[in-house]
Amino acid sequence: MGSKSYEDAIAALSKLLRDKTDLGSVAAAKIKKITAELESAACPTQFDAVKRIETGFLHFKTEKYEKNPDLYGALAKGQSPKFMVFACSDSRVCPSHILDLQPGEAFMVRNIANMVPPYDKTMYSGVGAAIEYAVLHLKVENIVVIGHSCCGGIKGLMSIPDDGTTASDFIEQWVSICAPAKTKVKSEYSGLSFSEQCTNCEKEAVNVSLGNLLTYPFVREAVLKNTLVLKGAHYDFVNGKFDLWNLNFQITPTLAV
Ligand SMILES: [Zn+2]
Repeated sequence: MGSKSYEDAIAALSKLLRDKTDLGSVAAAKIKKITAELESAACPTQFDAVKRIETGFLHFKTEKYEKNPDLYGALAKGQSPKFMVFACSDSRVCPSHILDLQPGEAFMVRNIANMVPPYDKTMYSGVGAAIEYAVLHLKVENIVVIGHSCCGGIKGLMSIPDDGTTASDFIEQWVSICAPAKTKVKSEYSGLSFSEQCTNCEKEAVNVSLGNLLTYPFVREAVLKNTLVLKGAHYDFVNGKFDLWNLNFQITPTLAV
């Protein structure tokens, strides 16, 4: 199926090249380049994405779905997760795996460097909608923001030049949400190596996100009513460690394993 869609795309592009005699030379060159890229991508790989997805789902269905009819029967009726979790998009830090969270346990947002932007209806409505739904409708009792070791997004934030020059379409602007963490780390840990500074920034950025959560009126209200608790965390996959702390703008461990 995968190679078929490649073939279709190549055929469509070739037809476009043949039919559109009035195509500008730049456009024609671009189409030729894309065609060549598609052709080279169609052949060499042995990896079959469709097969992998099919195998994965069948394993889940026989080993988990069909063996837990009570759980999946209840989930078919609705969800009532206790947690909302912010985690990085990084493929190594899936919260369901590292915390053994089962379906129905955590309402999740994953993005570059697990960041919570401040309340802003125009710029960050995707994140805002998720927080609003989790807090007002699902009534989650905990929001946990989980940073992690070797985070590329945090490295990107720490690498933005002081003059603010950016080279990416989205990434640097996004990670700048946690610019206050970078400023703090650069001033308080100036003697540390870049890599150590990044590790500190991974944790400080979580604290900035926890502070940003309080800019959402419904989050603030729930925290003040004691129906919602905000927690920060850091997962170190190099050493297999997980730290958890409460929102108090200091890293006061409540759990370190
Ligand atoms: Zn990351």
